[in-house]
Amino acid sequence: MPAITNHLPTSELQALDAAHHMHPFTAGGELAAKGARVITRANGVFLHDSEGNEILDGMAGLWCVNIGYGRGELADVAARQMRELPYYNTFFQTTHVPAIALTQKIAELAPGDLNHVFFAGSGSEANDTNLRMVRTYWAIKGKPDKHIVISRKNAYHGSSVGSGSLGGMTAMHAQGGLPIPGIVHIDQPNWWAEGGSMSREEFGVSRAKQLEVAILEHGEDKVAAFIAEPIQGAGGVIIPPETYWPEIQRICDKYDILLIADEVICGFGRTGNWFGSQTLGIKPHIMTIAKGLSSGYQPIGGSIVCDEVAEVIGSGEFNHGYTYSGHPVAAAVALENLRILEEENVLDHVRDVAMPALHEMWHGLADHPLVGETTITGMMGSLALTPHKDSRAKFAMDAGTAGFMCRERCFANNLVMRHVYDRMVISPPLIITPDEIAEIGRRARTALDECYVQLK
Ligand code: PLP
Repeated sequence: MPAITNHLPTSELQALDAAHHMHPFTAGGELAAKGARVITRANGVFLHDSEGNEILDGMAGLWCVNIGYGRGELADVAARQMRELPYYNTFFQTTHVPAIALTQKIAELAPGDLNHVFFAGSGSEANDTNLRMVRTYWAIKGKPDKHIVISRKNAYHGSSVGSGSLGGMTAMHAQGGLPIPGIVHIDQPNWWAEGGSMSREEFGVSRAKQLEVAILEHGEDKVAAFIAEPIQGAGGVIIPPETYWPEIQRICDKYDILLIADEVICGFGRTGNWFGSQTLGIKPHIMTIAKGLSSGYQPIGGSIVCDEVAEVIGSGEFNHGYTYSGHPVAAAVALENLRILEEENVLDHVRDVAMPALHEMWHGLADHPLVGETTITGMMGSLALTPHKDSRAKFAMDAGTAGFMCRERCFANNLVMRHVYDRMVISPPLIITPDEIAEIGRRARTALDECYVQLK
């Protein structure tokens, strides 16, 4: 067999890929029919494919490449760390410098008394940790019946059995026997799709109150925790009404329910602060982190845990851990990523330069005949595609068909944007410049125009 390199023709790479590679979240038929786009390299906010196209990445990979592509410093750190200590675990009373240094840095950046980190290899694993950790916490405190975790429909918390159950994606629950018992889902604060005649403010409170109803229905003594993304990402960048989170916080405090903020997307600058909880005024007991922690250069995730929960969990042995918890190479790379975010003032760039330009461009698309609402917080936004702007109407065809068409038109115009049903979402690298943002706007408008013609 010839060596498989970037020099093989695209069609050959696609055939080999389709023959042996099972892709996540991809319909097999689509792959066989069209072949996958082969990405060969990337720099800054641009991807390059095997056909010589330069593609603007409006999604920062999967919401993760916060510092942009091509930062050689991270490669140097990885190589150095691999030579020095490529692997050792953190089980059974061992540790190493990269894990120690990274936990110090995360504890310094995280708000309040979120001072302790339990590492995982991904966001899914970290949420599995959280599920076991909150139940273990209450068991140690003499309340083993406090085991139910309340989550939300259309939430995304990962793809493992535990995290997929915490998530509220019906298409995922339909496969593989999810959700596991002990998880309850309330409705999401998606005003555009589900708000009916309520104002955004009224709707925010009414959706938050569902948490109270669920707690009372199942019993305060049975509910361990509530988990939510500060802003739902994979569900379509659902920015909650301003009334939502204060009410959720009040309810968690009142009923002694642990609050888990899943910061896998919102963390590390995406919303304009280090964490989405700071932007939305949330005080969680645990935060889930991954993605922007290493800007996707290495697989690493974790749970940032408050003093009280860490103390209780640490009073015994938590029978939980992953071979790659605190992996030295991943930890060293994550630390270098955080150094770049901090020393290059990336959050200042977001707040002063990128956010204003992105918001202006995004809201500028609102006049397009296919666009209903445009919403955006920090560097994550979405727009609703609709056949009738004023009535918030849905398309007559299956949900997601228009979104899929629009995503394809974006791709054809060398722009990566994702669709979630009929919402288009955007989440570019944080280091993006105003000129690059303007280019996203031009390509997105062209894609919307083409989609409009196709839908007529
Ligand atoms: N939580 C949220 C909010 C996510 O968006 C994701 C991934 O998109 C996850 C958890 C799962 O993370 P991972 O894919 O690293 O397992």
